[in-house]
Amino acid sequence: MIDSRVAAERLENIESEEEIHRAIGKVLGLLEVGRDLAEITSVVMKPNICWGEDWKTGGTLCPQLLRAFVRYLRDHDVDEIVLAEGTMVGTKTFEVLTKLGFMDMARELDLKVVDLNEDDMVEVEVPNHHVFDKIEVAKTVVESEYFINMPIMKTHINTLVTLSMKNLKGTIPQKWKKRLHYMGLDGGIADLASAVTPDLILIDGLVGQEGMGPLTGTPAYAKVLMASRDPLAIDVVASRAMGFESSEIKHLSMYASSHNIDLASFGPEVVGVPMSELDLDFERPHFALEGAYEGVEILWGDPCSGCAGALSVALERMERAGELDKIRKEGGMTVALGKDANPEDMARLILMGKCQHKNRKKGIYIPGCPPPGMIVRDIILKLTDAESRYGGDAFIKEAEGLYEDEPE
Ligand code: SF4
Repeated sequence: MIDSRVAAERLENIESEEEIHRAIGKVLGLLEVGRDLAEITSVVMKPNICWGEDWKTGGTLCPQLLRAFVRYLRDHDVDEIVLAEGTMVGTKTFEVLTKLGFMDMARELDLKVVDLNEDDMVEVEVPNHHVFDKIEVAKTVVESEYFINMPIMKTHINTLVTLSMKNLKGTIPQKWKKRLHYMGLDGGIADLASAVTPDLILIDGLVGQEGMGPLTGTPAYAKVLMASRDPLAIDVVASRAMGFESSEIKHLSMYASSHNIDLASFGPEVVGVPMSELDLDFERPHFALEGAYEGVEILWGDPCSGCAGALSVALERMERAGELDKIRKEGGMTVALGKDANPEDMARLILMGKCQHKNRKKGIYIPGCPPPGMIVRDIILKLTDAESRYGGDAFIKEAEGLYEDEPE
């Protein structure tokens, strides 16, 4: 039976490699991870380094944590350590790792680096699936002797939180990352978590992200590390510590139902810092859309946080970049989202998400459930005849034929 304990430790000085090394030793000691490591010679670690922003934004793994963790693994005689990541759609893994100094660190610490986006892939069956009965996963992860998942503690505009289950998106190729966005992100994450089970999870809560995470939120200096062998247990404990109910997080509910677990009564044991002292109070993502942007009319058809969050981020970035000014000058726009929006025929209409597939012929259609914010921005810019910069055209093309079973 899986060990569902979750270990937690708070830190004072998150800049100190010594302090981080001590905290790693504490949480992993509480779980007796040293006994696991005595049996193995190689590990694959999958951090969250999904794009090229500095760790103090809360968007990227703390480099001192990686350094201190490698030291801990060497202390336990682990010979081969693989740093494995597959960055987000529209980015290149080695470019991101180089920009943030992780390639230099890997050379210095003698780590092998694998780009999981470009790895050989293995088709993995998903038991009790919601969306996908099989998923392609990077061979380096599937065939690893000991797989360590290292997410960051962040809010997420689409899924409320991104923790261990969501971080697994980095283990699948970019075409599959997009497929999750086309067919249902929450169900896709739950299926992926059922297909790929880490041996150990270490959450970086030194600097997380709150509000409009995971990329444009505010740094949250939570100064905490958490570890577990159980993905559901650590995601439930971490999200509760952040201030959210597990039942609010759809992919956790879906994963629990696949595994016949009653989420309402699921209370993993917390060791180390007690739950009562893990009151981290992360700010929620907020979606103030209606009336918030001059020249942008929103037809709000009861969308879920997926499309609401993606549109919110897209509009904010467009405002900051001056792109909405151009759209205003040319006559503004209307955006319909959610299953209950039924727009009339009109000019300059954007139809967003799988829920609006039924109206797609009335305007510019953005596929996805939800579409990524960057893709939303790219496709909206078609109103200004701008060229596709973030892969919007390819995203539309690859979606063709996927929703044939959706209502017309
Ligand atoms: S398409 Fe519909 S269900 Fe899917 S994320 Fe958008 S609003 Fe939610």
